[in-house]
Amino acid sequence: MHELGLCDAIVKMMDGILEQERMEGANKIVLEIGELSGVEAHFMEDSWIAVTARTKYEDTELQIEMVPGIARCLDCGEECRAVTCNLRCPLCGSVKLAPISGTDMTIKSIEAY
Ligand SMILES: [Zn+2]
Repeated sequence: MHELGLCDAIVKMMDGILEQERMEGANKIVLEIGELSGVEAHFMEDSWIAVTARTKYEDTELQIEMVPGIARCLDCGEECRAVTCNLRCPLCGSVKLAPISGTDMTIKSIEAY
C-alpha cells in the first residue's frame, strides 16, 4: 500500500503550497495518475480519506484523472497504448517498447481558499 505514503507526501506538499500562497485550505485537489505509474486510483481514494481524517483536508475532495500510458517502439517508432498493445508493437511486433507518458503521478491543480 504505497498509496498511503503518496497521500502523506501530497498532504505535505499541499501544506507547503498553502503556506507559500498564504491560503488556509483546499476544496479540491486534482491528481493525474499515469496508467503505467503503478498507482491504483481506488487505493488512492481510500488512502486519501484515511490520511486526511481529522486534518484540515478532511473535506478536501480528491479528484483523479487517469493519463493513458503510451509506449514507443524502439525499432520502428510506432506509438501505442501500453495496456492495449500488450507490450508488443502493433506495427512490427517488437517487444522493445519504451514508455513515453503515463508513468507519473502529478498534482494537476488545487482549489485553495
Ligand atoms: Zn515497432
